[in-house]
Amino acid sequence: MKLETLAIHAGNIITDSHKPVVQPITLSTTFVHQPDSMIYSRAQNPNRFALESLLAKLEKGKSAAAFSSGNAAGVAVFQALPAGSHIVAPDDMYHGLRNALLTIFDDSLRVTFVDMTDPVQVADAFEAETKLLWIETPSNPLLKISDISRLSKLAKAKGAKVVCDNTFATPVFQNPLLLGADIVMHSSTKYFGGHSDILGGALIAKEEDDFWKKILNVQKTGGAVPSPFDCYYLTRSIKTLPYRMKGHAEHAGVIATFLAQHPKVERVFYPGLLDHPGHEIAANQMTGFGGMLSFLVEGGASEADRVISKLKYFTNATSLGGVESLIERRAASEGPDSKTPQNLIRVSVGLEHLDDLLEDLNEALS
Ligand SMILES: *Cc1c(COP(=O)(O)O)cnc(C)c1O
Repeated sequence: MKLETLAIHAGNIITDSHKPVVQPITLSTTFVHQPDSMIYSRAQNPNRFALESLLAKLEKGKSAAAFSSGNAAGVAVFQALPAGSHIVAPDDMYHGLRNALLTIFDDSLRVTFVDMTDPVQVADAFEAETKLLWIETPSNPLLKISDISRLSKLAKAKGAKVVCDNTFATPVFQNPLLLGADIVMHSSTKYFGGHSDILGGALIAKEEDDFWKKILNVQKTGGAVPSPFDCYYLTRSIKTLPYRMKGHAEHAGVIATFLAQHPKVERVFYPGLLDHPGHEIAANQMTGFGGMLSFLVEGGASEADRVISKLKYFTNATSLGGVESLIERRAASEGPDSKTPQNLIRVSVGLEHLDDLLEDLNEALS
């Protein structure tokens, strides 16, 4: 099955004798004891099982685990590492997971943050106790591109696991497991949900090895699992993911080109632009460049805030991946220790009509 077909059919696992076309929501927390039945909803639930089966197929993995948020999924990976482990992570890692490493795991794990676009820096950061290489590409908010297959080879040679945060690309544009990663991580709050109304996260594994079994135990025993409602809505949303992603990427490509030519814009970060430093690697490992971009406005933070306040169709809010366009001055969102340039505006390009979006940006910038 091709991706579009999988997205629509692989999450429908229907056992009901009335043969509904869409899988019902099973709210029961407990199940009648019988051979091979599900037992208790923290451990298994039909809607979660359907969602996980779907996610494993979309990412070309063997097994998937759904969580109540993207951060819960990331934290499950860190919890599965032996105490004393060392991690190599990107210097612009998603700030929520960076904070988790620095504030929850500061006593048990050590991290070296490096520029992942430079494989030499990554190689130099490895130590004897390095157990995990964390990749995020395209990265947030600078859309930096890391070479997944090159970095995975490097980590493998050192005996470390590779986890790739694939939230920005989604399996529509990038399959890290086929490029050498061991586990893919998602914030399904973003493009999977696609309508800014579900919080969720996921991990998908290439192999069901001991490390994966530890992660499954964190999921089941830690209990940060999504509700049947959330699993149902995610499975439903994913049916349109391939078509939504095509629209997001098409719009983002045109908007990036428009902004790159605008006199008030200092710089645009979008991997689809030929002058983006990661363009060539992105063109190799992705089948589309995604719907996220960022840009620097001339005139600093106050001018960036002014532009944002004038927009009609881009809502000033954090998060991304919904059908509605969202925009924010990223440094303001990341807080006082943010390293993001103060005049950087991050855009999650939505599925409104492209002409309306372009006109809105043009008026706000003038
Ligand atoms: C949002 C996000 C996360 C965290 O996900 P939540 O669902 O907010 O917990 C992790 N990585 C990336 C790239 C994200 O955009």
